[in-house]
Amino acid sequence: MVVPGRRRPRRVAVPGRLGLVVIHTGDGKGKTTAALGLVARMLAHGGRCAVVQFVKERRDAATRLLRHPRLHWHCVGGGFTWEAADPTHLRLACETGWQLATDCLSDPGYDLVLLDELNIVLAAGYLDPEPVLAALAARPRTQHVAITGRHALPELVAAADLVTEMRPVKHPFDRGLPAQAGIEF
Ligand code: ATP
Ligand code: MG
Repeated sequence: MVVPGRRRPRRVAVPGRLGLVVIHTGDGKGKTTAALGLVARMLAHGGRCAVVQFVKERRDAATRLLRHPRLHWHCVGGGFTWEAADPTHLRLACETGWQLATDCLSDPGYDLVLLDELNIVLAAGYLDPEPVLAALAARPRTQHVAITGRHALPELVAAADLVTEMRPVKHPFDRGLPAQAGIEF
């Protein structure tokens, strides 16, 4: 119904679906959590998703809920803590993760590919940015990619469509409080 005196909403041309590169970065909490929200949302739309978790020691507890035939989850942390790990093992785990990531980024069947903590892998120099930028540019045009982690490289930010920086205001760790199930993991 058109209300007299009120302007009709302007129609926006929709050129068809276009895949976005989404980055969650910054020192604040919520980067991975928000990206998992995107995965849940895409699954709810009937989409097919892939997650490659770099760095993580173990699978996120969310995998127990997000167990879904249209979601393929890869965890290549290697079962060690990032800080304590042998750099050779880390490099190997990162290379394994990147191989999986390139498989996903070249598969037009995936509507959303989440590369969790890829930013810190790049910032730490365990992978080169050039092949990442090339794979993003060459991926299927309707495929969305979400990349998380602190210290996003400027060249990745430049290549992205949607970049959000989480900013810490307060964190319970500052008061020495331990990680809480359901909040931290
Ligand atoms: P989450 O996985 O909870 O969404 P994140 O992906 O934004 O967090 P990461 O950089 O991956 O954060 O760090 C993972 C862990 O570090 C989480 O347990 C998180 O609570 C914690 N963390 C994140 N930001 C801070 C902060 N500003 N101070 C202390 N701990 C933090
Ligand atoms: Mg994270």
